[in-house]
Amino acid sequence: MRGTLFFRIFSSFSAVILFLSMLILLVTFASVRTHYIDDLRSHLFRIADVLALEAGRLITSRSDSYLGDFIRAVERQERLKITVVYHGELESYMDKPEFAMAVERGKGWSLRYSGKLKEVLLYVAVPVKVNGEVVAYIRVGQPLKGIDALLKGLMFDIGKASFLVVLMALLVSFLVSKEISLPISRLISLSKRIAEGNVGEVVLMDEEGELRELSDALNEMSLKLKELFEKLSARERELETVIGSMSEAFSVLSSDGRVLLCNASFEELFGKATGKIYWEVVDSIDIIEALEGAFWGEKVGRQVCYKGRHFLLTASSVPEDRVVLVLHDITSVKELEQVKRDLVAAVSHELKTPLTVIRGYIETLEDAVDGKTLAYVKVLKKHAERLDRIVRDLLVLSELEYAGKDALSVEDVDASRLVESVFSIFKPKAEEKGLSIKAVVEEGVVFKGDPYRIEQALVNLVDNAIRYTEGGEVIIRAYRKGGWAVFEVEDTGVGIPEEHQRRIFERFYVVDKSRSRQTGGTGLGLSIVKHIVELHGGRIELRSAPGKGSRFSLFFTLTEN
Ligand code: ADP
Repeated sequence: MRGTLFFRIFSSFSAVILFLSMLILLVTFASVRTHYIDDLRSHLFRIADVLALEAGRLITSRSDSYLGDFIRAVERQERLKITVVYHGELESYMDKPEFAMAVERGKGWSLRYSGKLKEVLLYVAVPVKVNGEVVAYIRVGQPLKGIDALLKGLMFDIGKASFLVVLMALLVSFLVSKEISLPISRLISLSKRIAEGNVGEVVLMDEEGELRELSDALNEMSLKLKELFEKLSARERELETVIGSMSEAFSVLSSDGRVLLCNASFEELFGKATGKIYWEVVDSIDIIEALEGAFWGEKVGRQVCYKGRHFLLTASSVPEDRVVLVLHDITSVKELEQVKRDLVAAVSHELKTPLTVIRGYIETLEDAVDGKTLAYVKVLKKHAERLDRIVRDLLVLSELEYAGKDALSVEDVDASRLVESVFSIFKPKAEEKGLSIKAVVEEGVVFKGDPYRIEQALVNLVDNAIRYTEGGEVIIRAYRKGGWAVFEVEDTGVGIPEEHQRRIFERFYVVDKSRSRQTGGTGLGLSIVKHIVELHGGRIELRSAPGKGSRFSLFFTLTEN
């Protein structure tokens, strides 16, 4: 680069110097030649004037032959070409510019190539007068060969001098080019080194002015970049430490699916992965599907099972077309949940028989006692019934959880028939409470599902609607919406505050404990509803506002017949 820059400056200087010296040489040559020709012309005019005088005199004394000799003698002596043209012959000489000019202006000249003499001559022509009358024209011509030879010698001398001057100028230009290119080359090589990653390098420059400013700016940039790089690498190290120490399996993938970064926990699961395409290392359909969703821009969050362990997976696309995958090991949580479920199931089972016995004895006692004792027995009965409801609900829940889809016996479900059955079950209860109850159904909404379980879900919803409504109405609907069969239970009851709406489907989650208990609630009804709907691959929507009422909608996929 340095050589190129130097060469460019030097060759530009050299070209300018050579061009200027050639120009000076040519201009000098041309002006010297013009000067010589002007001088020669004046000289020739002087000779021509003397000859014209002499010729006029000789013509007057009629010594024509003497005139011829005289002219030959002058020709020889002065190496000139002299021609006398008498007035009568003038016509045939008018094509020569010197004659034409002499006739017109009294004096004429021309510099031209003579076809006869085969060389360039300078001609002058003046009139020969006798008693004021023009009787002839005399023309004096001299070849330029002599002048050109003279000029050549002169030009050779000038050329020699110019050559020396050019050589010196080139030497100076060489030194100047070096002087200019050296600091620039140093700046260029510094910026190249910075670009190659050698940040922090600087260049020291003696020059003042713009180059100094440029080098200062470059040095500052280099130092700032070094600082920035150090900060960045410190951050990167921190990040690596954090990611490395994460118990979650973590990896970042590029848009073409290549693993750019992953931590030890990730490699523990999938082996060495950096630089590989994800499907080369991940051998789980669930995880691959989740990643594909993330590549399409979805934020995926789901539970997956891999190598006998349970993970909470999150995969999402982040800026710069990257996808981040995190697998959080929840095996122990799952195991704990299972232990809890097993315990609940076992306890519920164990409680079922003694509870039946207790309830039997309470009923017997009810008939056998009276007064204060009867009041105690009634309290006992109320709590035994509540315990019985809880145990039954818990058994339903564990059955749904254990058996999963096997808990369903799937057949055609006629939505309107189901709604009407639930309506007839609750009509007396609603009316007893002074509530109006309506069933609004669309006929012919049939889909595949377990009618017994779905009825159980509707029963729980309508039971809640009546329990949590003091006045107004309860509406049960069934209709088709897009590809869904929808059941809706709407009431004008107490409603559910926004902050509780997300949690009321959890087991034992109740908004108002005393109200739930008073109305015979177990806190498990909605949890059972949610399980049933999810086992069917459906979903639940809730719209509710305190004091205005609630609307629960259950969506089940419609099957195409
Ligand atoms: P519970 O047996 O206590 O009713 P659920 O699981 O059926 O338990 O319901 C959970 C909680 O959700 C209830 O305690 C109640 O606070 C609220 N809830 C359910 N349905 C309704 C409703 N229709 N109107 C108002 N609150 C309701």
